Amino acid sequence: MCESSDHLITSELLSGFKACNLCPHKCGVDRTGNKTGVCNASSQVKIARAALHYWEEPPISGENGSGAVFFSHCTLKCIFCQNKAISQGGFGSYISLERLSEIYLELQDKGAHNINLVSPSQYVYAIVPTVKYAREKSLHIPIVYNSSGYEREETLDLLRDTVNVWLPDYKYTDDKLARNLSRAPGYSSVALKAIETMLKQVEQHGGRIVDNGIMKQGIIVRHLVLPGHEDDSMNVLSTLWNAFGNRIDVSIMSQYTPPSNCEELNSEPSLLKPLEHDMYEAVLDWADMLGFENLWWQEGDAVGESFIPEFDLSGVFAPEHKKVEA
Ligand code: SF4
Repeated sequence: MCESSDHLITSELLSGFKACNLCPHKCGVDRTGNKTGVCNASSQVKIARAALHYWEEPPISGENGSGAVFFSHCTLKCIFCQNKAISQGGFGSYISLERLSEIYLELQDKGAHNINLVSPSQYVYAIVPTVKYAREKSLHIPIVYNSSGYEREETLDLLRDTVNVWLPDYKYTDDKLARNLSRAPGYSSVALKAIETMLKQVEQHGGRIVDNGIMKQGIIVRHLVLPGHEDDSMNVLSTLWNAFGNRIDVSIMSQYTPPSNCEELNSEPSLLKPLEHDMYEAVLDWADMLGFENLWWQEGDAVGESFIPEFDLSGVFAPEHKKVEA
């Protein structure tokens, strides 16, 4: 971490990054030096975009949009990732923790319903003090933690007083798929335990709160249906139903977009095509049959690449600063 003048850098934060075990990969590397772990992130926060975002679930995006902060790097390596340029390519710019706090406040000033931390897991030590500092200034909108679900309980405990709305994925029940498609060993049980921990926090804070259609506190578990793997999608829903019933919201997504030029997909030919509408309908029917009441789904066909936001460093720099690094 090179911005030693940043007053939000605490000894606690530095000691966490010096032996990083934030996620289930438990790399144990010193990210403050020139080592990195599976996520490839250093200890200095790097982001690719901070802007209003309108394509989340209605209780997250509302009319005004969600204040999305897209963090660079990721703890998973999904071969079909839509945001590969930032998640695996590491596109983005380094910013100070003070600047990150300012960004939250700028998004709030733009009318965002919440601050939506997208792919934040590798920066949790840094996120906690930035939210605290922004709250002390004037941040009053909810913090949304938008993650892959591949989280350690110990890390989620650090976020107890920081996060208001949890937006985790539950991608697979089949661990072989999780390993092959996302390089995430043990994903099924790890993510299920993480969702249980998130839900426990929500319930300890008084449970789900939705005000004027916007979620202020709660948990929405997301699942992206993958072409050719609809059976696992149904298992995902059954597992969630058996574990949590209607204590969680569930969002079933159809927006799978086959990436272009991805040789890794040659071993997974079903992922070379978009999801068929009938298969998506079958998964939705299964969710309905199970009895989910707070269920979100997507209309129309698979979302095209045009719906992926442009990662152009929008909102990353203070207005008076020039872009210095990408
Ligand atoms: S956050 Fe990155 S360095 Fe830390 S344990 Fe996870 S993958 Fe490894």
